[in-house]
Amino acid sequence: MTAVFPTYKRFELSVSQASGTMVEDVNGKTYLDFGSGIGVCSLGHRHPKVQEAIEEQLQKYWHVSNLYHIPIQEDVAQLLVDNCSGDYVFFCNSGAEANEAAIKLARKVTGKTKIITFRQSFHGRTFATMSATGQEKIQIGFGPMLETFEYVPFNDIEAVKHAIDDQTGAVMLEMVQGEGGIIPADATFVNELKKICNEKNILLIVDEIQTGIGRTGKAFAHQHYGINPDIITAAKGLGSGLPVGAMIAKKEFAEAFGPGSHGSTFGGNPVAMAAAKAVLNIVFKNEFLSEVEQKGEYLFKQLEEKISKLPFVEKIRGKGLMIGIVCKGDVSPMIPLLIQKGLLVLNAGPHVIRLLPPLTVTKSEIDKAVNLIQEVLADFK
Ligand SMILES: *Cc1c(COP(=O)(O)O)cnc(C)c1O
Repeated sequence: MTAVFPTYKRFELSVSQASGTMVEDVNGKTYLDFGSGIGVCSLGHRHPKVQEAIEEQLQKYWHVSNLYHIPIQEDVAQLLVDNCSGDYVFFCNSGAEANEAAIKLARKVTGKTKIITFRQSFHGRTFATMSATGQEKIQIGFGPMLETFEYVPFNDIEAVKHAIDDQTGAVMLEMVQGEGGIIPADATFVNELKKICNEKNILLIVDEIQTGIGRTGKAFAHQHYGINPDIITAAKGLGSGLPVGAMIAKKEFAEAFGPGSHGSTFGGNPVAMAAAKAVLNIVFKNEFLSEVEQKGEYLFKQLEEKISKLPFVEKIRGKGLMIGIVCKGDVSPMIPLLIQKGLLVLNAGPHVIRLLPPLTVTKSEIDKAVNLIQEVLADFK
């Protein structure tokens, strides 16, 4: 019996405690967590520095309204803008809210109604972000969608050119499509896209909710591509387990989001900010990011060697510690088998096993996980 809406089909697992990459269930069985929630516990579970920061803030105050100054918000905003092309941050509580803010800002700034997004994208579950999402399964039964969005095939620059008209105000994309199947953007596509957006005065919005905060080995994934987006959104890994979202934009848009234009009662909650500040102070360091890059390469190489040649596996793809094992059939039977063996992983669409281990994962944890995946996948054809 449950009084919770059945919006999630849940696996047979109830967690009793967790620390680092390790999760323990109510029966005392332990698991390696290679999903980190869904890319949320970026520094693993209860990272000591993050826990300390949260506990310290709990002793001071938990909430004050955004009607007052909140210095810890200023600190987190500064850390974010020091590490990307943006100048101002709007804080909220989730990824969808960050994208909502981005969509509202883009409309207000440009005065135009149309935003181009991509097939297989995922931008959230609120009305605007569901409408932005180029996947029918997310939208079924909720129509009509907002008319603002036009979906084109990902990595297809001709399709973008074709879709642009004089009402196009922005293009919004993920640098590695997450929910859509761990599909990285092509460098040439992104380069062309940047050129067209510049030429036609179209805003570039990058949804870094899954790819940001060090996940791919850079502070933000768009930095692999040498672009300076007009608007960036972040959430998932930002609080390493506490709910927090951020919309980061260039200073010329400050006026469009002046007093009274947009808001959030809970946005920038001081306890969430304490977590985010501790996370960014750890993640936004060159040494830390290059370790993430190295560990990502190591994981990729191990998967290439031990898994890519299994009959059920098509290929491995991804960036940094965001990796997809693309399979030749439905991966849903494998996930419970991996759970039984003590490894938590995610899927990304029907055919892709998605790995989002904590950025603090160790090589020996990677070795263990790869061996368990090999054991399970070897039985499938
Ligand atoms: C998870 C995700 C979202 C939505 O975030 P929520 O916190 O669930 O609202 C949006 N965009 C991308 C790329 C995501 O991965």
